[in-house]
Amino acid sequence: MKPVIALVGRPNVGKSTLFNRLTRSRDALVADMPGLTRDRHYGEGRMGERPFLVIDTGGFEPVAKEGIMHQMAKQTKQAVAEADVIVFIVDGRQGLTPHDKTITEFLRKAGRPVVLVVNKAEGMKYSAVASDFYELGLGDPLAVSSAHGDGVHDMLDEALNIA
Ligand code: GDP
Ligand code: MG
Repeated sequence: MKPVIALVGRPNVGKSTLFNRLTRSRDALVADMPGLTRDRHYGEGRMGERPFLVIDTGGFEPVAKEGIMHQMAKQTKQAVAEADVIVFIVDGRQGLTPHDKTITEFLRKAGRPVVLVVNKAEGMKYSAVASDFYELGLGDPLAVSSAHGDGVHDMLDEALNIA
């Protein structure tokens, strides 16, 4: 079985940009995945000889009770349940938000391994990028730039090693 990586985070942190980079825009829906629901965005990627599946989630607004945000949160929860490892993406330019903390609480309860990834880190010092996010209690944040590719290989290596 290929490990399944779910990309989780609030809207606009760069989940889809990372998804496209990990799947190299092949973006193909994976045809045959027993047990996995089809209404999310699945792709296939490969690091060297190691294939993996990646799920792009629409966004995460766990407080919404109805409407599109509620639907998105539901899909994200399903993706988390299916995943072997969660890549939790936050925005290094915006810094930590209350919403990030809410997502952290949810992920803690879900009990899946989590890799904390600070995106949009190109051109920023690691100490400046990371310092905000230690308080989430998810270990050392990994700094990446999904747009430029910096740090993505190391991040993927870490995710696959704990999947
Ligand atoms: P999603 O809502 O989490 O899927 O986020 P998107 O992938 O749609 O990206 C949201 C915005 O952030 C877009 O304008 C992207 O171009 C931008 N973005 C994504 N990754 C990066 C990055 O590594 N660096 C910078 N500076 N911008 C990024
Ligand atoms: Mg998106």
